[in-house]
Amino acid sequence: MARTDDRQASVSAVEADGTTGRRYARVALDVPIAPCFDYLVPPALDGRIAAGDWVLVPWGRGRKIGIVLGLADTAEIAAEKVRPIMGRVDEAPPSSSAWLELIDFTARYYHRHPGEVMLPAVPKLLRTPPSARQRKESAFARARKRFVAPAGSPSPDMAAAPGLKPAQAEALAALEQGEGFGVFLLHGVTGSGKTEVYLRFIASRLAADPIAQVLVLVPEIALTPQLAERVRARFPGEPIAILHSGLAEGERAASWLAVADGRARILVGTRLAVLAPVPGLAGIIVDEEHDPSYKQQEGVHYSARDLAVLLASQRRIPVVLGSATPSAETWQAARTGRYRLLTLPERASGAPAPRIEVLAIDRDMPPDGLAEAARAAIAEVLADGGQALVFLNRRGYAPVLACGQCGWLSRCDDCSAYRVLHRVAQRRPQAAGGARFRLVCHHCGGEQAVPRGCPACGDTDLRPVGRGTQRLEEALAQTFPEARIARLDRDVARRRGAAEAMLDAVHGGEVDLLVGTQMLAKGHDFQRLRLVVVADPDGALFAADFRAPERLFATLMQVAGRAGRFARDGRVLVQTRFPGEPLFAALQAHDFAGFADRMLAERREAGLPPFGHQALLRTEAAAPDDALGFLGAARDALLAILAATPELAAHVRCFDPVPMPVARLAGRERAQLLVESGSRPLLHRALSRWLPELDGLAGRSRWQLEVDPSEI
Ligand SMILES: [Zn+2]
Ligand SMILES: [Zn+2]
Repeated sequence: MARTDDRQASVSAVEADGTTGRRYARVALDVPIAPCFDYLVPPALDGRIAAGDWVLVPWGRGRKIGIVLGLADTAEIAAEKVRPIMGRVDEAPPSSSAWLELIDFTARYYHRHPGEVMLPAVPKLLRTPPSARQRKESAFARARKRFVAPAGSPSPDMAAAPGLKPAQAEALAALEQGEGFGVFLLHGVTGSGKTEVYLRFIASRLAADPIAQVLVLVPEIALTPQLAERVRARFPGEPIAILHSGLAEGERAASWLAVADGRARILVGTRLAVLAPVPGLAGIIVDEEHDPSYKQQEGVHYSARDLAVLLASQRRIPVVLGSATPSAETWQAARTGRYRLLTLPERASGAPAPRIEVLAIDRDMPPDGLAEAARAAIAEVLADGGQALVFLNRRGYAPVLACGQCGWLSRCDDCSAYRVLHRVAQRRPQAAGGARFRLVCHHCGGEQAVPRGCPACGDTDLRPVGRGTQRLEEALAQTFPEARIARLDRDVARRRGAAEAMLDAVHGGEVDLLVGTQMLAKGHDFQRLRLVVVADPDGALFAADFRAPERLFATLMQVAGRAGRFARDGRVLVQTRFPGEPLFAALQAHDFAGFADRMLAERREAGLPPFGHQALLRTEAAAPDDALGFLGAARDALLAILAATPELAAHVRCFDPVPMPVARLAGRERAQLLVESGSRPLLHRALSRWLPELDGLAGRSRWQLEVDPSEI
């Protein structure tokens, strides 16, 4: 009855003032308190506002630019509190229904609000209202001016293009023949010529339609310039936009807008580029599709690889996933024929694959961490004028500092982790006596000076335990005093231009011995590199995360691929205390398929992805009991939902809450609760019923849900 009364009341109001009822717009705004707010559509804009439109709205005493998610006849807040929209941003590119669908799907799939997906996908500069001073020229006008298309022919420059090997030609033919939606796995080792196939695929997509656009995703910012350079060389007349989080705001706005306007026909970018509006999208490439960097780790935890596949199906276009070591998910899809497998079996240069040897080592190693055979191999390569690389995926000087007397260890005060000993770069090295060190927590960033004596017993016998890249570099300098040594890791790369300078030195032949982390493994072509020594991969063998071996295999294949990419006698030595591990045997045989098929069999047995689907509820609180208490209540709520629906109960499994691997971070206690199901739709149905209950249970704990978590 109340409903009828309301309706009558509103009808009479309309009759009374003679207008056609009030219209409200749900506007996505970038503010921390909520992802969207209701605004009144003023009479002047009536009929001129639709979902996807950009609008200027009042916010407190200021103004904000937001995007309309939808229109409604009722407001979610009291009607008298609703303020009117100030204007429509006519310069903004029209939001296509395809883009709105993508945003909507992403929000539904990751169980987030569409506003939380949409606003971060738009460059900040474009959603900042102009100040009075800037009125003359808007951010849009400036961004449009800034993006300059190159002059020249839009057809590809094939002068320097290498000829195709038969496998490349076959792969390309398959890509070009495909019509409509199709997912292609381009599986090929480092140097097998995947990039050449990408370039020709781009050319064929662009040639087919004058408004066609192609999206190229790369896993890391550091890799965008290299690929963009190759694309630019091939398409000298084609406007190319670059998008990643490392760009200055102005550049990012210019690139984004050029793509949204259709002026840039090629977009090269990192994961965030998948959410850019690309009206003429005709093809997608995801390079190194297995790379964990495709998973966003803040805000909405989306997988750009998975969204790229979705986007391709939505737009009915082909998507190419390239990798030497595809993810378990992709490999399984290729094995079952859901994705089409295109294999590039050989190196395009014709060089044979590097020889991989496994060296058994003991726990006690000399200071340089090298087995005798590895040291001899390096000496031989150096004597011959070649380059060698020692790979250690651990930055800093030593992972922990210990007291030789009482066993004190350099734990972080705020995290359940050790602070890592770091040698600090000195401005005036000659001024101070010897190197300076600090203890740094890699989780919270907390730092402290190295204590003179042990904080527990006062003894001065404090020793670094273990080895990071800095210590390795130091020890190698003693073992090979003649060699010119350079190091690359995140600490070096943090200094502006340092990584580029180091790589230039390597390419210029000024470096004999390279030391570094994963940063060295990806994408670089070192012409003189003939030997790679993997110093200590064992930590990743027994990590708690079930994806750790998959990642280790990918990293080792990648770093091995650096050796002898151009030489005929490339060699890789892997030092391990566990030489019998099947992972190393597969690596030695360059047998990804063997490794992956065994891994998939294990996953199938255990019901793990890609055979099972997961969601992880994470929480943090000041006290461990609060975190675990909330998750306990959350689990009970889920169990009640499952009990009420036999179909869900039969297929959805809820685990017990547990502290996270690094349970304490920056002073907050963290815990997690895993939900698993063999059926994706049933998992999502359970989640949609469960999530609305969580805020009521959380109390002071903060929580977030991650669908398809990348790390557990
Ligand atoms: Zn002590
Ligand atoms: Zn810490």
